[in-house]
Amino acid sequence: MLVAQRVNEFITSQHPAAVCDKCICDAMGFMSNAHSAQITGALGTTSDFERERGICATCKNDRTVIRSVIK
Ligand SMILES: [Zn+2]
Repeated sequence: MLVAQRVNEFITSQHPAAVCDKCICDAMGFMSNAHSAQITGALGTTSDFERERGICATCKNDRTVIRSVIK
């Protein structure tokens, strides 16, 4: 499965919670946050996701998070 698709499904599975790039990185087993940031940045441009500053549901930190907007 494509990495972007795995990230897509992970974020969707967290709905309606928002998660940050670092937690996505940890969940996906990526080597760097930049890798997940690159993917979430791309997903954030689609109408299926919202990428904004907020509280991550997993680590509770105030940072850039992404959430699925579809149920
Ligand atoms: Zn987090």
